[in-house]
Amino acid sequence: MTNFILATNNMKKLAEMQRILSPLGINVVTAKMLGIELPDVIEDGETFEENAAIKAHAACEFTHMPSIADDSGLCVDYLDGAPGIYSARFSGGHGNDEANNDLLLEKLDGVPMEKRTAYYVCAICCVFPDGREITVRGECHGHIGFERDGHEGFGYDPLFLVNGRAFGRYTAEEKDRISHRGNALRKLTEELEKIL
Ligand code: IMP
Repeated sequence: MTNFILATNNMKKLAEMQRILSPLGINVVTAKMLGIELPDVIEDGETFEENAAIKAHAACEFTHMPSIADDSGLCVDYLDGAPGIYSARFSGGHGNDEANNDLLLEKLDGVPMEKRTAYYVCAICCVFPDGREITVRGECHGHIGFERDGHEGFGYDPLFLVNGRAFGRYTAEEKDRISHRGNALRKLTEELEKIL
């Protein structure tokens, strides 16, 4: 098994990556699990791909190990793609899901369902110490509901509808099959299979 560093402290993301990449002989670990504290990086990219690459390069340079990072968010067509790369801090503070969902509902107040189209994006970048680099992108398209529904998932999931049902009501397995992160991970697997 080869160790790959995942540049996150989000244990849900770690479990998902481990599940999908272990059949390839890849053991995904966080830096912390190896007793390494990654320095903070400034995510000042203008796209999901740039931010994923910034994080993966920083982790690889610091650990000299193959490193993976992701960046994700929600793009709402009526809001010209906002909140986009600013999804976690849409309402100000970082990662306040309740305030972010309130603000999204407020900004779409009075907008009819046919104009509430949106999509999740997940970019994943994998960087090797020898300079090889893979970047993939997954998307998942849907609509923003008029009110919260369900308690599964996280972030904007109670408002994000696919086939008329909120992600807040999807099981983790159902979401994996169609989600932006699931789609990006499947593409990453295909690309890694070609070079490993
Ligand atoms: P990050 O990639 O972990 O920084 O996530 C960015 C933000 O995008 C999160 O804080 C959520 O607000 C939103 N987001 C990304 N993926 C999802 C998802 O699968 N469900 C709900 N919200 C998501």
